[in-house]
Amino acid sequence: MQLTGELLIGQHAIKGTRDPVQAINPATGETLEPVYNGGSSNEVEQACALAWQAFDQYRETSQEARAVFLETVAEEIEAIGDALVERAVAETGLPEGRIQGERGRTCGQLRLFARVVRDGEWLDVRVDQAMPDRQPMPRTDLRQRHIGLGPVVVFGASNFPLAFSVAGGDTASALAAGCPVIVKAHGAHPGTSELVGRAIQKAVARCNLPEGVFSLLYGSGRDVGTALVGDKRIKAAGFTGSRNGGMALWKVAQSRAEPIPFYAEMSSINPVFPLPEALKARGREMGKAFVGSLNMGAGQFCTNPGLVIAIKGEALETFKQAATEALADANAQTMLTPGISDAYQEGVQRLSQHNGVTELGRGPTGEGAYTCQAGLYTASAQTFLADTELQDEVFGATSLIVECVDSDELLAVTEHLEGQLTATLQMDDADLESARPLVRILERKAGRILVNGWPTGVEVSDAMVHGGPFPATSDGRTTSVGTAAIKRFLRPVCYQNLPDALRPEALRDANPCQLNRLVDGKRES
Ligand code: NAP
Repeated sequence: MQLTGELLIGQHAIKGTRDPVQAINPATGETLEPVYNGGSSNEVEQACALAWQAFDQYRETSQEARAVFLETVAEEIEAIGDALVERAVAETGLPEGRIQGERGRTCGQLRLFARVVRDGEWLDVRVDQAMPDRQPMPRTDLRQRHIGLGPVVVFGASNFPLAFSVAGGDTASALAAGCPVIVKAHGAHPGTSELVGRAIQKAVARCNLPEGVFSLLYGSGRDVGTALVGDKRIKAAGFTGSRNGGMALWKVAQSRAEPIPFYAEMSSINPVFPLPEALKARGREMGKAFVGSLNMGAGQFCTNPGLVIAIKGEALETFKQAATEALADANAQTMLTPGISDAYQEGVQRLSQHNGVTELGRGPTGEGAYTCQAGLYTASAQTFLADTELQDEVFGATSLIVECVDSDELLAVTEHLEGQLTATLQMDDADLESARPLVRILERKAGRILVNGWPTGVEVSDAMVHGGPFPATSDGRTTSVGTAAIKRFLRPVCYQNLPDALRPEALRDANPCQLNRLVDGKRES
């Protein structure tokens, strides 16, 4: 498919008129055609108007029709074939195998949400039937279901050009909830965005849906992104990126005449706790495996283990030595963008120039201009406790080991942590009693607690939580990965005493949608 550099507004393709965005191949530094001119307030207005027009019809599509639509999007993405992989590799510097895997995950995610839509659990139907003879007061008929919030803006993430971009988890869950979606493309992969955007556009047409169900805009975040989040027809937004960007847009969402939910996934350093007995038993092996997780994808994962917290001693020295040795072989991979590479260098410099921080080792330098040289640093617990900036995310393959004198200090450091997406315990059976108080604190700090694994690699499933208290996300009650992500874009409506003919199908007496409903406190099936 020939890329045109056009904005996709409903079924139309339009040349933008504002500042151009052009992809750079971070592996070669080459600028990639075509030019993507940004959208203006006119295009923002058109996309929002179409999305609003589409909302009432789209949210009332049958479960089957909406599920088929999500499956059709997956089919259309697969139909792009190798062109999608080639373009995504060129725009991100990520290896082909990673992009192929991500395409599988993206399509799998869309099909998973199709299953969710068909199941109907998300409607959470509750029926309290009328009790006209109840004493001392009769009860009227009450029925509840969930509906989509309204049009949703999605900010494509730079680090998942497929699985968290145009047709990624935010888009799939919002479409599943019955919300039209307008994507603000990430400037790092506009061509990949266009290819996927056109696939969704085709799926909308094939499924005879109103065109405003999907639009894709290019342009700067400060311009197009802010205008979209500020538009009164937009009712929620999903974002993955930096803390500064997320907070700037969150403020826009909260200062509107009608504030809206802004689901931002921003910053997490994902502490790992190698506990004493596990360290003694397998400190070497653990140190090596830790570096494998740290350097995966040049460390550009929101779940990258940027912090290790452990008790000082011989066993920790073994872990440190093994990790430092492994680091020497950790190949320097290309980072996603020149901006991310610059931010990484600055972060590493801050650590290395810190008085209380010691460098343990660096990985090899790479060939290209934007390669990520891995790094490992150490600091005492007292240094870490005294400087909150040591908790700032360094997006890339660098980690800080915080050394504690005893278990009380380890718990104090844990209590001091900001909100996290994940927290990992490396433990043996003999560590059970040390783990118990730690888990109690970590439940308050993190969205996911793991034992004897590594935080990178996020399953897309029913039980997954990819969220966590601030600043991991702007709303710790939610997840952006897994089927529960749909809840972010839904709200309950109660229908009191409506005649059956006026009720939505899901609430009718005959239960034509065959839903598993809660009727007078009991499950119907
Ligand atoms: P970013 O700079 O936050 O950009 C993400 C999106 O937000 C882009 O569309 C951007 O538009 C927009 N945006 C940024 N600042 C904005 C503002 N002040 N007002 C309105 N819109 C704004 O993130 P990035 O480009 O992906 O990477 C930069 C840094 O983000 C990384 O170095 C890393 O620290 C962090 N990051 C974290 C994660 C994570 O999961 N924790 C993932 C990816 C990135 P423009 O491109 O036009 O600015």
